[in-house]
Amino acid sequence: MPKTIELLERLVAFDTVSSRSNVELIEWVANHLDGLGVRAMVQMAGEPGKANLFATIGPDDRPGLMLSGHSDVVPVEGQAWQSDPFRLTHRDGRVFARGSADMKGFIACVLAQAPTLVRADLRQPVHIALSYNEESDMGGMRQLAAHLSQASVKPAACIIGEPTSMRVVVANKGAAIYRCHVRGHSVHSSLRDDGVSAVEVAADLVAFITALQRRLRDGPRHDGFEFPYTSLHVGTIAGGTAHNITASDCSFLFEIRALPGVSSQEVLGEIRHHAESVLLPAARRIAPNCAIEFEEVVDSPGLDERGNHHLAETIMPICGCLAPGRVSFGTEAGFLADIGVPTIVCGPGEIRVAHQPDEHVSLDQLDACDRFLAEIGHRLTRQALV
Ligand SMILES: [Zn+2]
Repeated sequence: MPKTIELLERLVAFDTVSSRSNVELIEWVANHLDGLGVRAMVQMAGEPGKANLFATIGPDDRPGLMLSGHSDVVPVEGQAWQSDPFRLTHRDGRVFARGSADMKGFIACVLAQAPTLVRADLRQPVHIALSYNEESDMGGMRQLAAHLSQASVKPAACIIGEPTSMRVVVANKGAAIYRCHVRGHSVHSSLRDDGVSAVEVAADLVAFITALQRRLRDGPRHDGFEFPYTSLHVGTIAGGTAHNITASDCSFLFEIRALPGVSSQEVLGEIRHHAESVLLPAARRIAPNCAIEFEEVVDSPGLDERGNHHLAETIMPICGCLAPGRVSFGTEAGFLADIGVPTIVCGPGEIRVAHQPDEHVSLDQLDACDRFLAEIGHRLTRQALV
């Protein structure tokens, strides 16, 4: 346990907010593993200042169990923290810092276990994976999964240590975010019918999205989720310059959290169809330069439990989880499932404190994760686990 805390202290001190570089952290971990005799692959991203890490402990000629975490964290701006978010602070059996729960706590537990795994005679290897940009566009795991899908030895299974209070999560919704930009036509508002208000066209489209959400409630339902349907949400909208000018521009940001097995592209297709077959022709009859454009910000696939049943059955007894969970937040798991690596989510800490001021993880949770990983390591010395 002291080792885990010491490692977590080091990890949270790297300010790896997604808008900044994570390379220092990745290089520090690579050096740390090197000190244990483990050679890590550092995969640089296309964009500067970003890298993934992938390392294998044990025999590297066969597929192993991948333990995966994202190295980036969300910003702290505008949040009232009682202590420095980038310095691990102990209070009441808990440790506080940005990333303590989401999800450097898990990474610390994995690294704390590494020396034991190196010394052990593993029948099946353990892969350690760290990604970048999970909290922004998920570009890190997208890149790493593409690499792994081509690798001569692909992991047999993966555990992503997002904070689930050490419960096994077998399904999560997809998370697709789009920016819609409407271009209208400006005139003095007293002549409103000669112009096209981008604000009004955008409002029509937002109303369509809201109505589509109502219709989705008649569609597939998955009772495992708190909100048991594919969910749509418009988060921000901005447009126009004055009350007496028809707006030339309006943009809004919306998300589609698709149930596993539902394609966000299909849902987007319905929205796009309404825009292009109803709203746009009407606008262009007035001004031919009007436009409605959709830009993808993120599209991360959901995790479908049909692919990880066996893995969940294997892991649940080890972490003492009696019933698998399903979560509505996005994770990187779908990228791995999509390349044929069965994946579950299980890690220390509570998701409700993630992204919040005074984010923390309890020492009990870290201890439970340490014991969980130690037991996995122990079992891997006897036989292949996954
Ligand atoms: Zn996370």
